[in-house]
Amino acid sequence: MTQPNQAGPRRIGQVRDFPIDTHMHTAFSHDSNVLLELYAAQAADLGIREIAITDHVDFLPGSPGYRYFDYDVRRRVMVDAAARWAGKVAIRHGVEITYESRYHDEIGEYMRAHPFDYAIGSVHAVADSPYARGRIETFASGKTVAEAVAPYFAEVERAIRSGFFDTVGHLDQCKRWLLPWFKPSDFATIPEAYEPLLNALVESGTALEVNSSGLRYPEHETYPGPWVVARFRQLGGERVTVGSDAHLPSSFAFGLEEAAEIVAAAGFDRLSLERAVDRGDLVLPDRFLRTS
Ligand SMILES: [Zn+2]
Ligand SMILES: [Zn+2]
Repeated sequence: MTQPNQAGPRRIGQVRDFPIDTHMHTAFSHDSNVLLELYAAQAADLGIREIAITDHVDFLPGSPGYRYFDYDVRRRVMVDAAARWAGKVAIRHGVEITYESRYHDEIGEYMRAHPFDYAIGSVHAVADSPYARGRIETFASGKTVAEAVAPYFAEVERAIRSGFFDTVGHLDQCKRWLLPWFKPSDFATIPEAYEPLLNALVESGTALEVNSSGLRYPEHETYPGPWVVARFRQLGGERVTVGSDAHLPSSFAFGLEEAAEIVAAAGFDRLSLERAVDRGDLVLPDRFLRTS
């Protein structure tokens, strides 16, 4: 596990005066113990108008996030918090589903039975994945970057094409796990590997998430990087989200200024949340649009 490294080429911090952070984890996730209240208080202080709480739901039996939270209990907490913070910070009842094609039908059933305001579908390094700790070294050694990303990208494409999700989370997070073998610049040498994912997003109307968590890690690049967001726009992509993927209070809204700059430079003037909803209130602040 790599450690967060904030000594990057540019000093990055929490965004201020911003429409939304769409990705964060609370104590309803197995890997966070942040209380929702703390994110809401920070959002109010920083001038972030809306937050989507996106706790993990996993489907691999025995995994730490396996159907981790009680939907009804969590929903009540969300509704109560939304009422308490109304007029200051909008709180949205979201989820981050670990997509695995082998559980496609089960995930579909879960989504139908459990409505959310906003759903992220993400591919993670589950226990028997080639990217799991203890397996990745054998998997990555001797491979080209194209071969090393192939299983991850194939599963991400299936997640997108499932149509279950508003957004696909951290499109190329395998960058983090593959860092001992490949640098972010190596990923830029395989644009053809990204094309099927970007086309799937465009064709299915799924938003592309620009996940800023990579800026906290040694790779110092969002998931995905700027050139991928620009290519998405060229291919006709219309919807992007930005999320910090915070699991700690200090990570909340971290790097979203940089993520929004990437989005604006690619030619987008606004952010998204729900599938197929054009949110005029998620237009990027003027400071981003002046320079784009
Ligand atoms: Zn994730
Ligand atoms: Zn997450």
